[in-house]
Amino acid sequence: MLTVCILVLALLCLALLGRTFLGSVGNGTAGSEGADTVSQSAEVRTDPEEQVGEVEPDATPTPEMISLTENMIHTGDLILVNSSYAYDFEANESTIDLVNIRNSQSFYYQVEKTDYEVAGRMLPSLDQMISACDAAMGTSETGITSAYRSYEYQQNVWDTTAEQNGEEYARAYVATPGYSEHHTGLAVDIGIFYSDGSQGSFSESQNAVWMDEHSSEYGFIRRYAEDKVSITGISNEKWHFRYVGLPHAVYMKQNNLCLEEYLEYLRTQTGAGNPLTVSTSEGTYSVWYTTETSIQKPSGDYRVSGDNIAGYIITVRE
Ligand SMILES: [Zn+2]
Repeated sequence: MLTVCILVLALLCLALLGRTFLGSVGNGTAGSEGADTVSQSAEVRTDPEEQVGEVEPDATPTPEMISLTENMIHTGDLILVNSSYAYDFEANESTIDLVNIRNSQSFYYQVEKTDYEVAGRMLPSLDQMISACDAAMGTSETGITSAYRSYEYQQNVWDTTAEQNGEEYARAYVATPGYSEHHTGLAVDIGIFYSDGSQGSFSESQNAVWMDEHSSEYGFIRRYAEDKVSITGISNEKWHFRYVGLPHAVYMKQNNLCLEEYLEYLRTQTGAGNPLTVSTSEGTYSVWYTTETSIQKPSGDYRVSGDNIAGYIITVRE
C-alpha cells in the first residue's frame, strides 16, 4: 500500500511539473538560462520560478543560429563587381532600396540629372561626405555626375562612349553592361558644378585631393586608383567612389588595398576564430569571412555581406 501511495505521489508530482513546464514554453519564459540539471534542482532549488527551466529535457543552452542563403552571397555593401564578377540583378531585386537623390538628399547639392538614384542605406553617408568636402573647400561645388545604372543604361553609356571615343577607350573606362559597379546603387561619380550651371574638372580639383584623403571616413573608397589598374582592370578614375561602409573603407585606405585585395585578404586570413579587428572613430569592429551557411548569431550589432564570389563577410561592432 505504501509503495502504491509513493508511486501515485511521484506520478502526481511529475504531472504537475510537466504542466508547469509546458505552460512556460507557451509564454516564452523557459529559455537558455536553465542550464542546471534536474537532479541539482531537486536538491538546491526552492524558487518555483527557477525550477520551471530546470526540467527542460535538454538543459544545454543552444546558441542562436542564423542562416546565410545563396542569395546573400550576391548582396550587401561588399559585393565585388568587376570584369570577372557580374552584378546579380535577380538576387538584389528585393533589397536594393533605390531612392531618388534629389528628393531624399539631406541638403541641396547638384545632381547632373534629376532622376539619379542610389541605394537609400548609403545616402546619409554620401550627404555627409559631400557636405564635409564643401566645407573644407569653402565652396558648394561638389555634386554627382553619375549614380545607379540599370543594365540598359550601362549599355547606352558603353555604346555612346565607343561611338565618341572609340572602342579601345570604352573598354578602358566603361564597364561592360552587367559588370558595372553602378548597378549596385553603391557607386557614384563626383563632379564639380559651378554656380553658373557649367561643370569643372573634378580630377584636377582640390575636391578630388580632399576626397581621396577623407572619403574612407564616410565609408567610401576611391575604387580605381592608378597603382591598382592591373588588378581592377579599370583605368585611374579619380571621380568614382564606391560605398563599402565602416570599418572596411578605413582599413582599405590605411593599408592601400583595393576591394579585390581586401576581399582576398579576408578570405585567406580571417575566420570566425581569428577575425580582423579594426578601430575607427565610430567604434571597434570584428570582421571575418566564412562560407558556412549556418553560423552562430553574433552578439551585438552585426551585418552580413556577400562577396559576390562564394562567401560572406560578417562585420560585428563591439
Ligand atoms: Zn563611375
